[in-house]
Amino acid sequence: MTAADSARMHEVSDETAAIVDLVLEYSRNRLLAQDTPLDKPLPQAELVRLAGRTISEQGIGARKALGIFEHVLAPACISIDDPAYLSFIPAAPTKAAAAFDVVVSASVLYGGSWLEGAGAVHAENEVLRWLAAEFGLPEGAGGVFVQGGTLGNLSALVAARDAARRRGRSPERFAMVCSVEAHSSNISAAKVMDVDVIAVPAGEDGILRADAVRAALEEHGDRVFAVVATAGSTNFGIVDDIAGIAALKDEFEFWLHVDGAYGLAGMLSPLTRSLFAGVERADSLVVDPHKWLFAPFDACALIYRDPQLGRIAHTQHAEYLDTLTETGDWSPSDFAIHLTRRPRGLPLWFSLATYGAGVYRDAVSHSIELARRIADEIESRPELSLVRQPMLSVVVFEREGWTKEDYNRWSAQLLDEQIAFVTPSSHAGRTNARFAILNPRTTFERLVEILDTMTERRAGPSRTEGR
Ligand SMILES: *Cc1c(COP(=O)(O)O)cnc(C)c1O
Repeated sequence: MTAADSARMHEVSDETAAIVDLVLEYSRNRLLAQDTPLDKPLPQAELVRLAGRTISEQGIGARKALGIFEHVLAPACISIDDPAYLSFIPAAPTKAAAAFDVVVSASVLYGGSWLEGAGAVHAENEVLRWLAAEFGLPEGAGGVFVQGGTLGNLSALVAARDAARRRGRSPERFAMVCSVEAHSSNISAAKVMDVDVIAVPAGEDGILRADAVRAALEEHGDRVFAVVATAGSTNFGIVDDIAGIAALKDEFEFWLHVDGAYGLAGMLSPLTRSLFAGVERADSLVVDPHKWLFAPFDACALIYRDPQLGRIAHTQHAEYLDTLTETGDWSPSDFAIHLTRRPRGLPLWFSLATYGAGVYRDAVSHSIELARRIADEIESRPELSLVRQPMLSVVVFEREGWTKEDYNRWSAQLLDEQIAFVTPSSHAGRTNARFAILNPRTTFERLVEILDTMTERRAGPSRTEGR
């Protein structure tokens, strides 16, 4: 092998130019496509058969590899940005945000240190400051974009425990308080940290309230280092009584972490802003731009009231890193459990700068209004009933007489016929249907069409299949 051969992949040449053109043309088409199908997964054996072997000593060439991606692999991935994707928490990046993600990759930006990525970090920090101000946090608040809410929650809770230790607290077992309806990632964080979880019952309506938290603090307060309040539960979009829980900080010593991975974006809308009173007292919070802030995967904004506490907890020290950590520069790596990172906040920065914050408020409000409208429609249908009134943009409802199998079959059929992606959920042991509404291109009519499939003969599984 010659030197020229080994540099072939990196040099600017006719070959590499052709590869770049192919990829950018595909990207452009996908970004501007009007008719992207919903798509669905395929069994592995089918993918083996269709894709064949793609990795060899010689390579198959960009045209063939991209062809396999376009015709085999991509169609076996659900289009998360489809307006009929209503499961879990959808993603619906703005065109500016999704397009700018290409720029972030093309520029090979490193977002871990100020030394290497000052410009990118500066822009990310402007977004974090804007978010912090929206949430009512003080001037000095700041943090970092991490991969997702799971890592954001873990990093915040590690900082919380570190702060408790620094204040001289050393119980035999640390514990954190959260709602029984809190997101699973908080439980997972406790497991990683080897701390106890005190799961406090929420009200009938799913809201964690101050009196329940107070009881837990009175019983276990000496070992509680953090209370997690949920600002928009994933299953229902329920916002805890954050103001009431925050007020307990006057009597008890704990770090208030607000898990708003999905719902905290609801603070941008005047329709729901007041639900989040108390967030301004949070010691840390997370919100996922890849959820309701219309950024591409994957990004979680982790913000500390006092970023110094995050930095003390997380800065990695090593001989080769000292040149970075001794400067006192703002290096995003220092604020969470990670080191190397892409500046994943930049797509949101570019989109916010492009369109302005106002249209983001409108887009969030659109989801909330649509959720309220379809909830009314559900209530008006005798076969359907709401499990709870929606607080944000998640609508959970039941179809009278349906078993779990009925919901599963209905859901599979919707995907199979490429009508919608609506996976069943459950509450208190009862299966239900759930719309997570987030995509500004989702319409009332589209949702009504889906409701119709639950009552029409053709799609009422228990009738058509005559069980
Ligand atoms: C989605 C979600 C998480 C987890 O976030 P990831 O980005 O999926 O890791 C945590 N908490 C809540 C409330 C969520 O909705």
